[in-house]
Amino acid sequence: MFRSWRYSPAAELAGTWGTPAELDKCFARSCEPVRAGVALVNRDRRWVMYDREPLDNWTTGRITLLGDAAHPMVQYLAQGACQAIEDADCLARQLKACDGDIVKAFSAYQAERIPRTAMVQRAARTWGKIWHDNGPVIPLLRDRILTRRERDDYTDLDWLYQARPEAS
Ligand SMILES: Cc1cc2nc3c(=O)[nH]c(=O)nc-3n(C[C@H](O)[C@H](O)[C@H](O)COP(=O)(O)OP(=O)(O)OC[C@H]3O[C@@H](n4cnc5c(N)ncnc54)[C@H](O)[C@@H]3O)c2cc1C
Repeated sequence: MFRSWRYSPAAELAGTWGTPAELDKCFARSCEPVRAGVALVNRDRRWVMYDREPLDNWTTGRITLLGDAAHPMVQYLAQGACQAIEDADCLARQLKACDGDIVKAFSAYQAERIPRTAMVQRAARTWGKIWHDNGPVIPLLRDRILTRRERDDYTDLDWLYQARPEAS
């Protein structure tokens, strides 16, 4: 299980982690519209960010999982809902293709979806670690690489966004 990098159980229990003061400090130098937006964020709760190691089975008989229940991931690729939608697309296709054989459809569904969602779960962790690393080496390399990239260079995300013939 993975949590945010500055997270510590003791700090969470003491209420000193992820506080409204920390939020305001992080955005203090942002432009005015961003600060105005941050001021609108509810402050009465906070959610610790969790993911899980990918599972190798989502199905028991005529019950299967989809979305966050199947593959919870951290937010660094903004893919939680995207992958849930892809799951739904795949499930609909397989149910149609298997013509009412639900067990067969679920099996084909998870065979198609588990490898991809596992890759997204792992990549989201990796991206988060790169962005939040406290250095000194990784931030130096990260900033050097990112500042030299063309704005429309999506090389590292082609595997995620390129067209997939199997998807509708
Ligand atoms: C702040 C934030 C920003 C996000 N940004 C993005 C983004 O930019 N791009 C992206 O792709 N994803 C994003 N996500 C992730 C995305 O919201 C989730 O991955 C997605 O909603 C998962 O969909 P889901 O249907 O699997 O689960 P959920 O949306 O959590 O739906 C589960 C539903 O089940 C209900 N439920 C739970 N228990 C029961 C029960 N016992 N009985 C009946 N109903 C129950 C819940 O109330 C809920 O309505 C973001 C998430 C957050 C919190």
